[in-house]
Amino acid sequence: MNDANIENADSRKVVVTTSWDDGHLLDFKLGEILNKHGIKGTLYVALGNRERMSMNPTRLKEISEMFEIGGHTRTHTPLSGLSPERMKDEIAGCKKDLEDLLGKEIQMFCYPRGIYNDLARKTVIEAGYIGGRTTRQFLTTAGTDRFLMPTSMHAFPYTALMRCRHCMKNSNYKGLAKILKYGIGKRWHELGARLFEEAVANNGVWHLWGHSWELETHSIWDDLNELLEMIGNRDNVKHMTNGEFAASTNWATG
Ligand SMILES: [Zn+2]
Repeated sequence: MNDANIENADSRKVVVTTSWDDGHLLDFKLGEILNKHGIKGTLYVALGNRERMSMNPTRLKEISEMFEIGGHTRTHTPLSGLSPERMKDEIAGCKKDLEDLLGKEIQMFCYPRGIYNDLARKTVIEAGYIGGRTTRQFLTTAGTDRFLMPTSMHAFPYTALMRCRHCMKNSNYKGLAKILKYGIGKRWHELGARLFEEAVANNGVWHLWGHSWELETHSIWDDLNELLEMIGNRDNVKHMTNGEFAASTNWATG
């Protein structure tokens, strides 16, 4: 199947979209960098995250005035092996909780740890989301399925071996070929910049994702700033939230 046609987004421009998972308080620091460079962001939040505390409802309301908020399940449970009832509770329940809290429609969903199955995808559709983001990376096209959207780059200092393993685990052979071509040992933001140039050349999409707490843990805020400064200064870029991108693209499925 061919990748979705992003003509509607504006065929003369590369689409730049970013997404950040888990609703950590450091998203406010991240938000300052995104705003400084005119980059849009979608924040995926699991209000009852059992692994890592999400920001409180007051702060979430505050940041939702600046960035799109998406669903990330109720408890940050990996979506495999759950019963249909539990799946629905995690996926549709999360949408309802966030909509009740924020008073606006929640359009996008992100699979915790990038784990999903057919039932999870189907439940995301039935819950009324317009798209779902995975953790497949090193891709600069829209992909074929709005409910399994790929990404270009994870803001994380992977080793070459980790990059290979991640691609193999997801049967992401296109991504693997890409990083072998561009330099598998490149620093993450250099590889991100190379993938951006590829997206520009193909009128594609460049989707950066990550976690603000990982930027802190690995001290890579300066790398992020450098990468986004380069992109923020470029012409012919269409900046979109994940939801705007999902809504404006001609998808073959869903
Ligand atoms: Zn997460």
